[in-house]
Amino acid sequence: MHIQANYSLLPHNTFQIDVKTQYYIEINRQSDILTLRTDIKLASLPWRIIGGGSNLLFTHDLEGVTIRCTFKNITVVKEDNDNVWISVGAGVEWHDLVTYTVKKNWWGLENLALIPGTVGAAPVQNIGAYGAEAQDSITRVHALDIYDGQRKEFRHSECQFGYRTSIFKQQFINKLLVYRVTFRLRKQHEGKPNLVYEPLKNALESYKKTDLTPKIIYDTIIQIRESKIPDYRKTGNAGSFFKNPVVDIEYFEKLHEKYPDMLHHKMLDGSYKIPAAWLIEQAGWKGELHGHAAVSNQHALFLINLGGANGTEIEALAHLIQEDVNHKFGIHLEPEVIIL
Ligand SMILES: Cc1cc2nc3c(=O)[nH]c(=O)nc-3n(C[C@H](O)[C@H](O)[C@H](O)COP(=O)(O)OP(=O)(O)OC[C@H]3O[C@@H](n4cnc5c(N)ncnc54)[C@H](O)[C@@H]3O)c2cc1C
Repeated sequence: MHIQANYSLLPHNTFQIDVKTQYYIEINRQSDILTLRTDIKLASLPWRIIGGGSNLLFTHDLEGVTIRCTFKNITVVKEDNDNVWISVGAGVEWHDLVTYTVKKNWWGLENLALIPGTVGAAPVQNIGAYGAEAQDSITRVHALDIYDGQRKEFRHSECQFGYRTSIFKQQFINKLLVYRVTFRLRKQHEGKPNLVYEPLKNALESYKKTDLTPKIIYDTIIQIRESKIPDYRKTGNAGSFFKNPVVDIEYFEKLHEKYPDMLHHKMLDGSYKIPAAWLIEQAGWKGELHGHAAVSNQHALFLINLGGANGTEIEALAHLIQEDVNHKFGIHLEPEVIIL
């Protein structure tokens, strides 16, 4: 275990912001935390956990200790005729895991192809895309208490999964380090393609449902994502900057009367989800520049670093958008990105 002082987090965040953390430590053994806690100086500082930094916006240097889990292996823990259970180290790249399962012809993760970040963050964030969420396949989450190194195990029902959230993002944020995640995947003959997301269904309409394979869905999703999402390796970003807001039926009807073309999605409880990207675009922000930051002209929900932006510049742009959308539509946009 290597403790690095005054360490730049530039390689560890997709917004490509150059901030430093007082101490940076990669955890690659369960005993590492206990060892670190015996160091009185480190133990007295605040600790925070990062993964691939693909949902973070750093606005200043970080005081204290930043830890990252680098457990890497993938093992099959159980198998029957229809299912396979795999246990995956938190440090594995999420997309590498998806690629691995698709190569095996296992169903479950194919709709979540090309989401940046690590396996450890997937249950924390309950990542989701194209009608699927990580929680659909997660059966257990294994974590270490960062105060005493104790192991904790959570069954699916104990994880309190919700829209881009879980118990690990709420009650246990920066308290429990997820080090392994167990997934249940379905073998090919049991597979049922998840086509609830209409544009995906349309993109695959030339196939008979029974001819679909995880690989076909994976390839299609990669194609769709590459065509509409800015590549963070070229242009720093952290995915969707804001959550899609939900309004009650009365407010929806009022807005809909004024904006009959407003995109919307009716929720099971009768409320309406309105795409934040639509609101931002209507408010005239798509492609707008603010110093070294901008709203992507590819997708209005993505704030981007044009090169050399600092976190406060991006945060300031986010505030301007929030104020304007609130002023024009009476809707508060809540950030999905974690601002530190
Ligand atoms: C281009 C782009 C596209 C994206 N598309 C999507 C998408 O389609 N769907 C989606 O859901 N998200 C999307 N995201 C957001 C991002 O990929 C996810 O939120 C991802 O899960 C973050 O993983 P990470 O490892 O980078 O975590 P980080 O951003 O480093 O951390 C996120 C949170 O998880 C915590 N955390 C990280 N690792 C651990 C761990 N091992 N134990 C405990 N806590 C931990 C951190 O403390 C932090 O609170 C996108 C991001 C980008 C840049």
